[in-house]
Amino acid sequence: MKPAGIYIHIPFCRSRCSYCDFATGLYESAVAERYVASVVTEIATWREVIQLEVVDTIYFGGGTPSLLSPQQLQLLMNSVRTRFDVSPNAEVTMELNPGTVTPDSLAAFRELGINRASFGAQTFDDRELARLGRSHTVADTRRTFSLLREAGFENVSFDLIAGLPGQTLEQWERNLGEAFALRPEHLSFYLLEVHEGTPLATHIKNGLQPTPDEDVAAEMYRVMLERAAAAGYEHYEISNLCLPGFESRHNSKYWTGAPYYGFGCSAHSFDGESRRWANERDLAKYVATVERNASPLVEDRRLTEDDRRAEAVFLGMRMMAGVRTGEFKELFGVDLSVAHADDLENFQHAGLIEFDGDLLKLTRAGALLSNEVFAAFV
Ligand code: SF4
Repeated sequence: MKPAGIYIHIPFCRSRCSYCDFATGLYESAVAERYVASVVTEIATWREVIQLEVVDTIYFGGGTPSLLSPQQLQLLMNSVRTRFDVSPNAEVTMELNPGTVTPDSLAAFRELGINRASFGAQTFDDRELARLGRSHTVADTRRTFSLLREAGFENVSFDLIAGLPGQTLEQWERNLGEAFALRPEHLSFYLLEVHEGTPLATHIKNGLQPTPDEDVAAEMYRVMLERAAAAGYEHYEISNLCLPGFESRHNSKYWTGAPYYGFGCSAHSFDGESRRWANERDLAKYVATVERNASPLVEDRRLTEDDRRAEAVFLGMRMMAGVRTGEFKELFGVDLSVAHADDLENFQHAGLIEFDGDLLKLTRAGALLSNEVFAAFV
């Protein structure tokens, strides 16, 4: 069994971004206290997997985990270390938002063993940040990055969002210039998705903001990959770039079939074989459930052989290194190039996939249209 990853969801933010549909709410210290206690209880009483597992990644995601105090994070780290066999060289990531950390808090986070920071820069344009309802400015981003370096963080990731309403290619190129100039070890980038029910969706519907232009967004993706390659970044996953050796070890588990266990509201888990389960999404219900010593699971699914095969293709192909069809055949007894001959030929013809020996990979154009490719395997 591959080493497992641990995900801990921290569902608090300083304010609500206009596009957000994650399971998060506004930070309140009393609620955060109860929530941390509940996650500690969930980990201590967790029986989904019985044996002591080796864990080599821990990921505090959210939300904005950096809103928790070092003492609260220590409680969570201690409970993980008590329940699991954490490798000494584990990658321990914390998501944070610019403007939510100080030299003292970062020093305390380092003391706890947090050695990787991932933060939501999103854009280097103050007007765009304001339109997104982000609670930080570009100056906060730059200062937070400096503070991370001064605190000794040598593995830092930024998130950037492309395809914002009204965003031009020139603005996006300026963003990229700023991001690459800071030289983070890792970059995640997303094309803006407008989710029903978010303030952004309402603004667009009411004509207060323009509808994002998909063709411009596609061009932004292409430009980003070109600039990234020129700057020495590897495009290792559809939405992720890194300097050599700095792939996110934790997130790679999601795409390579490794086990991961999620704690806290809305957290998902996979046993590395054939079972996926998920916790209650609603924060208040999650806390109330754990406080009465009940299980917060709301989904528990056994994967069929077909599910496992489909996942191995569409998760594996998210990695730009691709899927070895020979290994796939050994594992599942199916030759992809025979079973999906027509689809593969069409995609190859359209320039969306390519074969390198028995390696089946998305092309850059395919990475942008990956959902269409993956749909053929589901
Ligand atoms: S910081 Fe992230 S999780 Fe929090 S409201 Fe904004 S988009 Fe949502």
